[in-house]
Order: sequence, then C-alpha cells, then structure tokens
Amino acid sequence: YAAKTSGETCRWYATELDQQAGEEARLGAELRTALDSGQFRLVYQPIVELPHGRIKAVETLVRWDHPERGFISPVDFIPVAERNGLIMELGAWILREACHQASRWYAELGDVAPEHISVNASARQLAHRGFAALVASALEDSGLSATRLTIEVTETAVFEGGPAVDTLHRLHDLGVRIALDDFGTGHSSLGLLQTVPVDVLKVDKSFVDTITMAGRHAVIATALIQVADGLGLTAVAEGVETAEQAAELERLGYRLAQGYYFGIPEAQPDFRRNRESAVDPAAI
Ligand code: C2E
Ligand code: MG
Ligand code: MG
Ligand code: MG
Repeated sequence: YAAKTSGETCRWYATELDQQAGEEARLGAELRTALDSGQFRLVYQPIVELPHGRIKAVETLVRWDHPERGFISPVDFIPVAERNGLIMELGAWILREACHQASRWYAELGDVAPEHISVNASARQLAHRGFAALVASALEDSGLSATRLTIEVTETAVFEGGPAVDTLHRLHDLGVRIALDDFGTGHSSLGLLQTVPVDVLKVDKSFVDTITMAGRHAVIATALIQVADGLGLTAVAEGVETAEQAAELERLGYRLAQGYYFGIPEAQPDFRRNRESAVDPAAI
C-alpha cells in the first residue's frame, strides 16, 4: 500500500511540476515574441518631496500588455526573464528607453522635470561584466547625464559579493547613483551599507504599512531613517497609500516618499505640478 501510495504521490507531483515547467517555458517563449513585437511599455512613478509633493524623481516600471492574456505583472514575468536569460535584452531595452525618455523631459520641461530617474536592475544583469558599459552607452546615446540616473538593486542581488559588487563600483565611478530597493526584506545586512557604494535606501512598503498602528510598529521605519541620516544616505519610503502614513513619515524625518497616495506609475506623469507647487495659487 505504502509503495503504491507514494508511487501515486510521485506521479501526481511529477504532473504538477511538468505543468509548471510547461508554463514557465511558454511564458519564456512569449517574452521573446513580446520583445520582438513591442508588447512592453514603460511607466514612471513619482518619488516626491514631503510634505508638499514636488516630484523629485521617478521610478521606471515595465509593463507587458499581452495580446491574449492582457496585463501580466512584472512580479510574474521578470523572474522568468531572469531565469531564461532574456532579462539581459529586456533590461537593455528598458534602460535605453528610460534614458531617452528622461532626456526628452529635460529638453521639453527644463527644471520642471524630475531631478533623477530610477531604473531597476536584476541580479543577473548586475552579475554581468558588461553591465556598467551598457549603462555608459545608454547614457551617451541619450545624452542623459550620469548624475541623473539611479540604478535600483536589491540587497539579495549584491549579497553574494563578486561581480555584482564590482558592477556597483563601476556604476558609481560613472557618477550613477545606487539605490537599495525593498530595503530590510532581503538578505538584510547593515554591513552591506559599509562595503558597497550606496546612495539611496528605499525603505520597504512593509515598514510603511504598519507605521500608523499603535505600539511598536514604527520602530523599524524610525531606525532606518536614523541609519540613512547617520550614513549620509537618502531615504525613500515606499508604498505610501494614505495621508496618515505620509504625515507620520514626515514626523519621523523622511523627506522623500513614493506610493499610490502621491502618484501611480504612468506613461507621462504630470510634472506641471512642480511648477505650480513653487507658486501656490491658493496662497495668493
Ligand atoms: P519595485 O522595484 O519595488 O517597484 C515598486 C512596486 O510597488 C511597483 O510594482 C509599484 O507599482 C508598486 N507600488 C508603488 N506604490 C505602491 C503603493 O502605494 N501600494 C502598492 N500596493 N504598490 C505600490 P510593479 O510595477 O508591479 O513592480 C513590481 C516589481 O517588479 C518591482 O518592485 C521590481 O522588483 C520589478 N520590476 C518592475 N519593473 C522592472 C524593470 O524594469 N526591471 C526589473 N529588473 N524589475 C522590474
Ligand atoms: Mg524599484
Ligand atoms: Mg521597491
Ligand atoms: Mg517594493
């Protein structure tokens, strides 16, 4: 009985795994087609100054509009692209496109345009020896100044050390800023802040979510702004969804925040509010 049962269990799992592998292969193949036929597009989410909401920077986020399946989240397809290697080509397209867009904003909007643009880079891109050169060429081709660009990486991607850390040094030498994304949720090590060049700490949404609850919930958000200030880093609070969270973050000393409360990711965020916030008509 035991043998038969475990045999059946094995077969059942094997089918399940086959299905998963099949889905992964299918999605992987569709990514190739999507890249060739222009199904990806970029959106930009504001990173704003507290409390007035002037747009200081934007984060570039990729979107996939699948012709049959509709919207597919980057949470679902970035890991597949990472595993099948297509992230190199997709990531290069994202980087070039974002640099060109930022460059156009400066040409069209001048100082109403955001100061910085962030682009996410995945572990495999960072580990590649040619990544810093790719960034340099995207900057050169678009005419964007290196000091305008921020590359967002996760702690986990640089945790292992090795080539990813070399890449960060090369990027930093170019003048590009480095942001640690989702800070506090990965292979967190405060020691990382001393060994890799970091300019920006993006405090993860999970620490913002609980900030207005009674009790000990603001402890981590409080500690992280102190770490950032103490090390001379810029802190950005991620995933701010309410006015209460924004007020509490400001009270704790956060100067920058990102989240649906301030702006969703859009193809063309409304930067005119930067001009308006300088001279508030309501105040006249
Ligand atoms: P991330 O880099 O931490 O990006 C922030 C994510 O949080 C985005 O989801 C954004 O839409 C979402 N978000 C922003 N504000 C709020 C909020 O107030 N509430 C909630 N619930 N969510 C908020 P998105 O665009 O789905 O991206 C998810 C993840 O996918 C990103 O996390 C990043 O890890 C990855 N990703 C997205 N675009 C790219 C890309 O161009 N390249 C790479 N390598 N990864 C990307
Ligand atoms: Mg990010
Ligand atoms: Mg993030
Ligand atoms: Mg996050």
